[in-house]
Amino acid sequence: MAYADQSAYLLPALCWCYLYSVFFVGLNSVNLSIDINTVKGFLDPEEGRALYDAANQVLALGPCLEVGSYCGKSTVYLGAACLESGSTLFAVDHHRGSEEHQLGEEYHDPDLYDASIGRMDSFKAFRKTVQEAGLEDVVVPVVASSRVAARHWATPLSLVFIDGGHSRDAALTDYRSWSRHIVPGGYLAIHDIFPDPEAGGQAPYEIYQLAIASGAFRALPTIKTLGLLQRL
Ligand code: SAH
Ligand code: MG
Repeated sequence: MAYADQSAYLLPALCWCYLYSVFFVGLNSVNLSIDINTVKGFLDPEEGRALYDAANQVLALGPCLEVGSYCGKSTVYLGAACLESGSTLFAVDHHRGSEEHQLGEEYHDPDLYDASIGRMDSFKAFRKTVQEAGLEDVVVPVVASSRVAARHWATPLSLVFIDGGHSRDAALTDYRSWSRHIVPGGYLAIHDIFPDPEAGGQAPYEIYQLAIASGAFRALPTIKTLGLLQRL
């Protein structure tokens, strides 16, 4: 009788554990096969999660592309979604760093500086991340400036993530070069959106507004500083 009493509690408890793991843990973690905290970069985990979710929704429409990979943080999130759906991520970065990464600038990292040529080089760290995350058959590194990589681009894209240079010129070039390749229903994601000029540079926010004003995109809720738009 005592045994029957215990089992009466056991079943609901097991059900609860199962539901908890499926709905709570499952919804809040991404299986990245790498400790994301070991990857240098500038993406908040919530933003990474949002990128992963957005990619999962549209990857059936085609491959995706990011501008600005640095050491591969965003690459890991987008790549994880591609891995699951058998898709491909083109990762565009000249790996020479943005303005703020250069020697003497605020976000300069001496570990990523090649003193023999006096230039930044994040490509080695990027490759290591991609290899450790098991994404070598998913990620195609395009080691070139966004402008050069886009020159002959003709492949329709399901999602474009812009996180490259933050000068007005660089942001505009990224927007003009890549947004036109997004298929209807696909996503344009833009990092470092700061509607308040006191909080951060305005170039990413400018292209975000340009996208809305073009009438070709509708804005979805922003996740921290990650602007998300859907191609109409
Ligand atoms: N997405 C990364 C952070 C990117 S930092 C993360 O999740 O951590 C910005 C990156 O953009 C730098 O690595 C820099 O080399 C690259 N970049 C800047 N301007 C570029 C351009 N015009 N073309 C290609 N890459 C560029
Ligand atoms: Mg950024």
